[in-house]
Amino acid sequence: MKKFLFANWKMNLLKKDIIEWKRKFFKIYKEIEKNKENVEIKIFVPFTHIFYAKKLFSGTEIEIGAQDMFYKEKGAYTGAVSPLHLKDLGVKSVIIGHSERRRIFKEDEEIIQKKLKKALELDFDVVFCIGETLEERERGETERVIENQILSGFKDIDKQKLNKIKIAYEPVWAIGTGKVATSEQALSAHRFIINLVKEKFDYEIKVLYGGSISPENFDSLVCFEEISGGLVGGASLSGDIFARLVNIALKYT
Ligand code: PEP
Repeated sequence: MKKFLFANWKMNLLKKDIIEWKRKFFKIYKEIEKNKENVEIKIFVPFTHIFYAKKLFSGTEIEIGAQDMFYKEKGAYTGAVSPLHLKDLGVKSVIIGHSERRRIFKEDEEIIQKKLKKALELDFDVVFCIGETLEERERGETERVIENQILSGFKDIDKQKLNKIKIAYEPVWAIGTGKVATSEQALSAHRFIINLVKEKFDYEIKVLYGGSISPENFDSLVCFEEISGGLVGGASLSGDIFARLVNIALKYT
């Protein structure tokens, strides 16, 4: 059972930190030929550092991805990042719909749907993020919210490209808060997502968990078949801690 360990550095780390990250990571994580079949590791770095990070990690098992992209390929969109520019840098993977994009940058379901559609059209591998807020969970709306995010996001996508998508279930109340979902909460959401995508799109989607993952709590999540790995924010900023998470995931492959 393959596991997926994705680091989301958000708006953190400078070049010197990335060198240190790599040194610490490979001190703990030993690249072994058989790992390649069992675990996939990606780092989603700030746009400005993609070129540098790709060079630094070339020849390793780690792929460098982008944290977002615009849904237009070119034009008068000052400050936006075109998927074609990402392709030009050799980027193959993007995150779409992260809750920080939804909340802070006011991306609604329509924008996210356009981004997902464009990303698939251009053959990117996508980490599609969904998750409920604390208020929504307390109102008992978790399933309704994540169903709506999936059905809106997946509208009009080419079904042949479903294998390019991994869903990251990230309860908003768990992101960067130190409050991790319990195994039961995560499992119930993951099962709901897997069944929904199977029922509506006839595809068995992989679902990663995200939200305050740490080496202390990761075992209790990644041990389940329905939890195919993690999208990791805070704990991915140190190479050694992230390497420990990869090693934990490897136990369940
Ligand atoms: C994230 O940014 O996707 C995330 C899960 O962050 P953190 O691990 O810091 O909660």
